[in-house]
Amino acid sequence: MAVVLDLVNNPRPRHPEKAHKPDSPVSPKPDWIRVKAPVSPGYFATQKLMRENGLHTVCEEAGCPNIGECWEKKHATFMIMGDTCTRACAFCNVKTGLPGALDPNEPARVADATAKLGLAHIVVTSVDRDDLADGGAGHFAETIRAIRARCPQTTIEVLTPDFLRKDGALEAVVEARPDVFNHNLETVPSLYLTVRPGARYFHSLRLLQRVKELDPTMFTKSGIMVGLGEERNEVLQVMDDLRSAQVDFLTVGQYLQPTRKHHEVKRFVPPDEFKSVEAIAYSKGFLMVAASPLTRSSHHAGDDFARLKAARAAR
Ligand code: SF4
Repeated sequence: MAVVLDLVNNPRPRHPEKAHKPDSPVSPKPDWIRVKAPVSPGYFATQKLMRENGLHTVCEEAGCPNIGECWEKKHATFMIMGDTCTRACAFCNVKTGLPGALDPNEPARVADATAKLGLAHIVVTSVDRDDLADGGAGHFAETIRAIRARCPQTTIEVLTPDFLRKDGALEAVVEARPDVFNHNLETVPSLYLTVRPGARYFHSLRLLQRVKELDPTMFTKSGIMVGLGEERNEVLQVMDDLRSAQVDFLTVGQYLQPTRKHHEVKRFVPPDEFKSVEAIAYSKGFLMVAASPLTRSSHHAGDDFARLKAARAAR
């Protein structure tokens, strides 16, 4: 488990806004959630490439449990615009604070790493940049264009922040034409104030709907975590809301608590229940559904993109 305060190795607390909070209870993980420690040569090769190119990944920053499996296959999710986020969501392990200036060379370095890794499909996400006038949309668009120019065969998936109160930001990203536009709702509306306090449920939903209005051919994707204290009916309601916004692809995974200062895991949802969620989601009309304890938005994103295209073609 990650630490909130490590004043010996890191004089700046990772989550200063959470340091004063009382510890949340920590429940032992069930067998179905355990993963092996990453040890493969492929994992270390991916890690080396990220370090050499000065790149951040959400795989590391969020403490993703799939990192061993993904990095062994050289699948990584690039996190642009720094490693420090302006939000402080109760579930997230990414560092909070005031981020530094944007690096104008970062889009080229991401494109370069995409080429070196030989990626057929790349996922690019970012921290929230409420400090920037456009929320970082221009940098996202630059990164998409740099990857297209360097690796024209690579398909591109973006996982964006909500661009709350940033007029024109969403349009700038859509105009750069990623293949998949992903924005995670993360949880059900009733938990937004505790789990995702800087965000607004309806705004996030509307963002996804607007992508389809701007470009009906663009695939849209969204995900939620379960185990945060949501009710089953609320999950079903989120599915209906996402279908009303014409979202194509739904991901559902188990929330895992990064530290004692983060939101508590209220429940470990058993694998059978994920199967039932998947079946219901398909019945509501999603083109693709990924639902399992270790599902994350970017897990198997390349294979899932191929299945997504095939599912659309078959309709
Ligand atoms: S699931 Fe996504 S975030 Fe996690 S290791 Fe794989 S690519 Fe990275």
